[in-house]
Parts: sequence; C-alpha cells; structure tokens
Amino acid sequence: MQYAEVAVIVPVRLYQTFHYRVPSQLQSELKKFSRVEVPFAGRLVQGFVVGFSRPPHLQKVKDIKRVLEQAPFLNDDLYETACWMVQRYLCSLGDALQCIAGSPVGSSQARQENGLVVADGQFNQAVLARAPKQKITLEAARACPGLTKSQLAAKAGVSAAVVNALLAKGLLKEAAAVQAGGHEAMPRAAIPPLTAEQELAVSQLRQALRAAGPSAWLLHGVTGSGKTEVYLRLIDETLNMRRQVIVLVPEISLTPQMVERFRARFGQQVALLHSALSQGERYAEKARIRAGQAAVVLGARSAIFAPVPDLGLIIIDEEHEHSYKQEESPKYHAREVALQRAAQNKAVVVLGSATPALESYCRARPGGPYGLITMTKRVDQRELPKVHIIDLRKELAAGNTSIFSVALQNALAGRLAKGEKSILFLNRRGLATVVICRQCGGVMKCPRCEISYTLHSDGWLKCHYCGHAARAPGICPCCGGQTIRSFGVGTQRVEEEVKRLFPDCRVLRMDADTTARKGSHRQLLHEFAHGDAQVLIGTQMIAKGLDIHQVTLVGVISADITLHMPDFRAAERTFQLLTQVAGRAGRGSKPGEVIIQTYDPGHFSIITAQNHDYLGFYHKEMAVRRSLRYPPFSYLIKILFTGLNEGDVMAAAQYWQERLAEAGRNLAVRDWEILGPAPAGIPRIKNRYRWQLILKGMASRDIRRLAAAVLEQAGTRYKQVAVSIDVDPLNL
Ligand code: ADP
Ligand code: ZN
Repeated sequence: MQYAEVAVIVPVRLYQTFHYRVPSQLQSELKKFSRVEVPFAGRLVQGFVVGFSRPPHLQKVKDIKRVLEQAPFLNDDLYETACWMVQRYLCSLGDALQCIAGSPVGSSQARQENGLVVADGQFNQAVLARAPKQKITLEAARACPGLTKSQLAAKAGVSAAVVNALLAKGLLKEAAAVQAGGHEAMPRAAIPPLTAEQELAVSQLRQALRAAGPSAWLLHGVTGSGKTEVYLRLIDETLNMRRQVIVLVPEISLTPQMVERFRARFGQQVALLHSALSQGERYAEKARIRAGQAAVVLGARSAIFAPVPDLGLIIIDEEHEHSYKQEESPKYHAREVALQRAAQNKAVVVLGSATPALESYCRARPGGPYGLITMTKRVDQRELPKVHIIDLRKELAAGNTSIFSVALQNALAGRLAKGEKSILFLNRRGLATVVICRQCGGVMKCPRCEISYTLHSDGWLKCHYCGHAARAPGICPCCGGQTIRSFGVGTQRVEEEVKRLFPDCRVLRMDADTTARKGSHRQLLHEFAHGDAQVLIGTQMIAKGLDIHQVTLVGVISADITLHMPDFRAAERTFQLLTQVAGRAGRGSKPGEVIIQTYDPGHFSIITAQNHDYLGFYHKEMAVRRSLRYPPFSYLIKILFTGLNEGDVMAAAQYWQERLAEAGRNLAVRDWEILGPAPAGIPRIKNRYRWQLILKGMASRDIRRLAAAVLEQAGTRYKQVAVSIDVDPLNL
C-alpha cells in the first residue's frame, strides 16, 4: 500500500477524496479508516483513510504527514452509513466520518485495546504541585486519552516510572477498566408482570426481532402506559440472540430515572454515551462497546453511531423530540440514521412516543413503511389527568393582572394545604419576537405562509419563510385593541409571583441558569422528589420523562409562546408539549390535574391536548399541512447564508436563488419552488447577518439533487459568506 485515498475534513465536493503517498515509516501503522494529518491547500488538515487505490496521476501526490489515530471507532458498516449521509444531508465524506467517529482520542497510534485514561475524581492539587512530572503526565493523558504506557511517557517527556506511579496511585486507569461500577443487575423476581397491552406489544415486536429482516415500528403509548418496560423486554430478547442494542433518549442528563432502570436490569452491560462524558470516559465506553462487552448502549443523539459489532435493535424513546436532529453540519436526524443502520444490519427499530411526530405517525398508517402498536391505558388503570383551559383574555377583563389566573392560584393553594406537589411549566421564550393582541389573542401572520411574522428592530413585521413584510400595526386589526405587543415571561418572574402569593411556599426553579453545572439536573430533581420543596418551576426540560408520584398539579403559565412560534410546526409542538407536561401529573395513587392558561383557548392543538386526543390532533393538523403543502406533504431544504457584510450575504442568497432556478430548469425538476431570500428568524447573531432560502418540493431526492448541483458549482463563489445546508430542517 503505497498510496492512500483520504476523505479530508474541509469543505469539498460531496464524495471527493484525495490521494496521498504513504511514507515507508507509516506503512505498518496505517490501516483503513485511520485518522491522518495531510497537507491540503497549503496547510495541514485531518482526514480519514478510506482506501488504498493508486492515484490517476503521480506527479503532485504529497505524503501523509502523520497518523493521528490508528483505529478510530469506524468500520465498514459505519462507512456505509457515512456514504449514505453524504447524499442524504449533502455533507462531505470527511464531515460524515468525523461525525461518526467523534473527536480524536490521543495522538499517534492510540491503541485499540486498553489505552490509559485519567481516572474520575478529584486530585489533590497541592500534592500534584509538588510532583510536576506527574502533573504534566496527567495533563497529557487528559488531552490524549487512550495512549499506551510508553506513548504517554513519550508524549509527556517523562520516564515510564512516572506513568507507573500514577497507575499505582489510581490516578490513571486502563480505559476498559473505567466503568460505571457497582451496578448489579436486578433479581429476576423484581421484574413486573406485563399488562395486557404491554404483552401484546412485546409479542409482536419479539416476532419482528426473530424475523430475519429489518423493520420499523411506532410504539404509540400514552404517558405512563409502560413503554420502558416494553423496551426492557425487547432488549432482553436481543441480548439472548447475542446481538446489541442502541437506545436513544432525548437528553440523558434529563432522564436519570431511565438510566437507573436500565442499570437495574442490565447492570454492567449498559454503556452510557452522552455529552457530559470526558474524552477518556467516552473512549472507555466506546472500547467496551466495540469489544461487545457492553451490549446495551444508552445515549443521546450521537449514540446512534455506536460501534456495536452486531446491531440487532434500536430504540428511540420520545421519538418526536427535536434534540434528535443535529443543528451543526452534518445536520442529521438520528431517527433517519437509525432506519439506515437498521437496513444495513437487518435490525429492528422501535420508535416510542405518546405524541409521535406527524412524519412518523403518517408512516405508520396502513400502507406505510412502519408497523403501528398502540397502548392506550396507563399502567394500573391510573387515570389520565383532568385538563382545564383558562382563558387569559377574561382574566384581564376581570381585572386580574397577575400572571396566574384565579383558578391556578386556587389550585396551587389547595395543593399547598394538602402537602401535595405542583409543577409550573413555562416553555423557553421563543428567540424570535412575535406580536400578539392581549385583548383578542390574535397574532400577526404572513398571509401566504400562515406562520407568525417576526418583529424586526426597524418596526417591520417580516415572514422569514418567504420574505413578505408588513408594517407593525398600532392597534389590532381584528378587535381594535390597543394592547398589542410582543410578550414573554421568564421563570424568575414566575418564581417571584409564587413567592408573592404564597410567602411560605418552598420553590425550586429548574432552567438553563440553575442547571448550568454538571449533574445539577439530577440533584434538583432528586431534591424535588425526595425533599420538602412543594413547587417546581421549569422550562421544557421538566416536560420529559419525569416520574414523581406526589405531583398532582401541573400549571402551564402560557401555551401561547409555543403556539405562536414563527414555525409551521408550532401547533404540533404545542400539542406535544402540553401532552408531555400533562403526563407529569397524577403518576401516583392520587389523580392529577392540569391547568393550561392561554389567550387562544379555542385552538385545536390545546383542545385536543385537553382531551388526550392524539388522533383528533393528527387529522386536524394533517389537513392544515396538506392545504399549505408543508411536510409531511412536501420536503424542505433550508439554505442559510451568514456573513459580516449584509450586502454580501444578500448577494450570495440571490445568486444561489438564481442558480437553483436555473438548475431546476436544466434538470427538468417538477413540483418544487424556492421561498426567499428572506432574513432568517433570528436575522443577526454575533454580528453575522443571516439570510435564507427554502426549497420546497414533492420529492426529497429532487430538491437534494438541485442543492447538490448548485453546491458543486457555487459552493465557494462568495468567500466571505458561509453557506449551510439543512435537509428536512426542524428549525426554519
Ligand atoms: P411511559 O414511558 O410509557 O410513560 P413508564 O415506562 O415510565 O411509562 O411506566 C410508568 C410507570 O409504570 C413506571 O413507574 C413503571 O415502573 C410502571 N410500570 C410499567 N410497567 C409496569 C407493569 N407491567 N407493572 C407494574 N408497573 C409497571
Ligand atoms: Zn411568508
């Protein structure tokens, strides 16, 4: 192997790779998929070796500079997934491989087996200060986990004795030895017998697992119907077949209870992958996964790329969650990657949710590609909570200016008197500013796209889909009301209000501010579940997975913030959030109650959430989507242009718009259109202007083909403007 073909991690054409010569001293080290450093356009860049073919021309071939990682967590299976990502998400092969392999672990020749990593826990800094060589070595190990003893010694410029001393003190560990530790699997007897609905679900899915082919299933089960127990049984089945399982959860720090349940059932076989892991911990977990030691991988989005040897089952819990979509390039959706990996491995995919994404539910309708399994009852016949809708327009008219309606104040007072717990939910304030009339609840919308206008600093209302603009009115065009303004309240304000109304109440607040520290989520939740706090105030992070039995009241401060997001999925997100939040109430023996405050009490997404009526919501919302030709009745690609000079950004967007139109004619693509250029929903971030184009088409392949064609020719024309492509965007 004199030559290697390298997929470099720089913006290049989609499948483009480059040939390099393999210098003799690297011959023995280099393998397929090794991570290397190569000269490229006058600088050094990283890339992955994807083959050893001879270059067509030998003149200008340069040498590979060095091997950064001999065996990253890649294999032929994952390489196939990377190639699929290139055509699906229009990213370069190097970007796709980088995304799958994760960040590099260690400099030259990180070994596949048992490299050294820094052990968990606090070091005695004072002691280390007196041992500078040990300190340097630890720093080197932290920067480059996974090195062998001699590599680490060489890297830190110390003798092997220093590394040995650190090993002896337990400050360094062999990667494979770093484990969760102390998790014994639960005795068989503690596993509950299944409910009838669970039994049916498990038997159907068990059959799917035993069948030889790939398949995908939507498990639509109301909150509290016991979906997790179904997952656990299926995992057991898959382990018996000596295959591995990937389980995705929206955000692992938010689901400590889920982690506990998995550990209790499968003990050491569980590997956790999430963003809070250090590089060393991640390396250790991946090493256990690759070796087949950890057969149950539990993690957030990127765990979908776990290097399991024989993938048998993928479970995506809360499959509708937007956190499964990566917002940086490559902008993949873990659900779509899961389906692809399942197809490659003849694995089964189970998508679980109480509120499936419209895209998923429509694929599970008769004739669609997914099987549908429905669980309609809560375990133990527990009732779904009673939901009340409070019309905020009437509160204002009756002279109540508090952010709490009278009904919510009374309900809260009742819970405090009885010693029961309450949750007050406030979704994160939308980043874009929408304008609402506080008298009639009306919102200014683009007549063409039916999404809320965004208020710009120049006083104009703009549609960030199509660019349509209107003057912000001084009085409401519907009711003539004068209290027309942008609005939003923060969690802090809610906390102050609770304390004003109930001075003795013990309140916990959970939002981005109070949970910035690692592990603080868990701590706050634990405190709320087991401590004496009576009220928890939080953002959407509390909507997920929380299972606290003493909670009997959930109050939603304002459903409108989500409902009027400038996004065609606003109604869907409202329904999902309300349903999920409501699902937090009444999980114990006492029934739960939910109070939703809104200026738009007649909206179907609120009413169907009140009635726990997913199908009702589904049909209404599908009708809206059909009439406006939004997904799932069409496909979208968002192309975002950003740069410091607004003129350049607009020119680039305009140029792309023209090239796309031209490509559409040349390639004779039908049933598609371009929206924009328009300023993005957030028109400027950190001094960078943002404009966007939206491609809308009836066939995903067609509009991807157009975007790819223009990317090839126009990709680098405006050097000062960054272009980012988002296929099937969730944020428009
Ligand atoms: P979901 O994920 O569908 O919202 P969970 O899996 O969290 O529901 O289950 C809700 C509650 O019911 C949990 O406390 C769980 O331990 C319990 N549970 C689940 N299945 C059973 C069963 N078969 N028997 C008794 N309790 C169960
Ligand atoms: Zn519009």
